[in-house]
Amino acid sequence: MSAAATEPASRLDVPFVDVGALHASLKQRILDELAAVIDSSAFSNGPAVAAFEQAFAAYCHRPCCVGVASGLDALRVGLLAAGLEPGDEVIVPANTFVATLEAVEQAGGRPVVVDVSEADYNMDVAAASDAIGPRTRCLLPVHLFGQLADVTTLERLARTRGLMLIEDACQAHGATRDGRHAGAVGIVGGFSFYPSKNLGAMGDAGALVTPDADVAARARALREHGQTAKYRHDVPGYTSRLDTVQAVVLGLKLPHLAGWNDARRAAAAYYSEALKEVGDLRTMPVPPGSDPVWHLYVVRTSDPAALGSFLSERGIQSGRHYPVPVHLTRAYAHLGLGRGDFPVAELLADELLSLPLFPGISEAQLEAVVTAVSEYFAGR
Ligand SMILES: *Cc1c(COP(=O)(O)O)cnc(C)c1O
Repeated sequence: MSAAATEPASRLDVPFVDVGALHASLKQRILDELAAVIDSSAFSNGPAVAAFEQAFAAYCHRPCCVGVASGLDALRVGLLAAGLEPGDEVIVPANTFVATLEAVEQAGGRPVVVDVSEADYNMDVAAASDAIGPRTRCLLPVHLFGQLADVTTLERLARTRGLMLIEDACQAHGATRDGRHAGAVGIVGGFSFYPSKNLGAMGDAGALVTPDADVAARARALREHGQTAKYRHDVPGYTSRLDTVQAVVLGLKLPHLAGWNDARRAAAAYYSEALKEVGDLRTMPVPPGSDPVWHLYVVRTSDPAALGSFLSERGIQSGRHYPVPVHLTRAYAHLGLGRGDFPVAELLADELLSLPLFPGISEAQLEAVVTAVSEYFAGR
């Protein structure tokens, strides 16, 4: 078939994400403030870092925030600052980005993987409870796709079993569940500001929030060579500061985050309504009391690769998150896990497709996606 025969008359390309639109109106202010940073030469620990930390702590409803170099480091430094010791077991969900497991191992812990729930695609609390053993020290739920795990039940489980609760909130800036804010349930909440996250830097950056001033102080030391004062090194640390340049960008973007999250919610609501009875599609379940921020808009279908390539022929980009569950990756083969160990996570890996969703996606773009998805199922 020629391209002309497959393409509708008015083809509308839909990118998977488009952060350019968010920056257009902020670009001049960002440039002006970066010019001031260049003039001051305060590239490391400049005043914008503390200002952003304060603002982000308030946004997360936590007293303390420590900026670091990435989301991975927010978790790694957070685990260490909260007191993880070598060999401690940390329970993590099978449906996550590999960084969750990287953080545990780099902090000296042992990841113990458990399955996720079909009810919210996040850590299955009963499975987590069953996995608790004598070496278990910490529960590390991930708020995947922008929806909180069942923090109410996880918090109770952590309390009754004497475990730390640390949240991977790298995809959930601003989400709530049962009135609880992402990152503000556990002793540490870790956030990534990778450019495509709900709050994105112009490069790599991350932050952890905590209610505990001692944890925050240890994290501040760890991110900067273990320093507690200039050239006083109390613990071996890392180079994991939040750059002044990124703090400037994040500080200027943070006031817009609530509006951008609302735009994501509106786009998600449009999809969820329009895709209700299309083919075998199932949208992400949202339990009562959960208010996700839709970092990704995932749908379940029997053959996501076929749907993805059908959309791609029509100029619509989509994604797979994540095509291989962590326990089946080569990187984590040493955990000795295999296919069949976590059936729900494996099913989700086989069936999820992520549709384009970003603040600023137009109604015409949303319509084009829905039309193309409907055409795919109509032709089957
Ligand atoms: C992005 C992400 C991370 C890691 O963030 P980086 O900033 O890339 O290090 C960790 N966990 C989850 C669930 C993520 O989506």
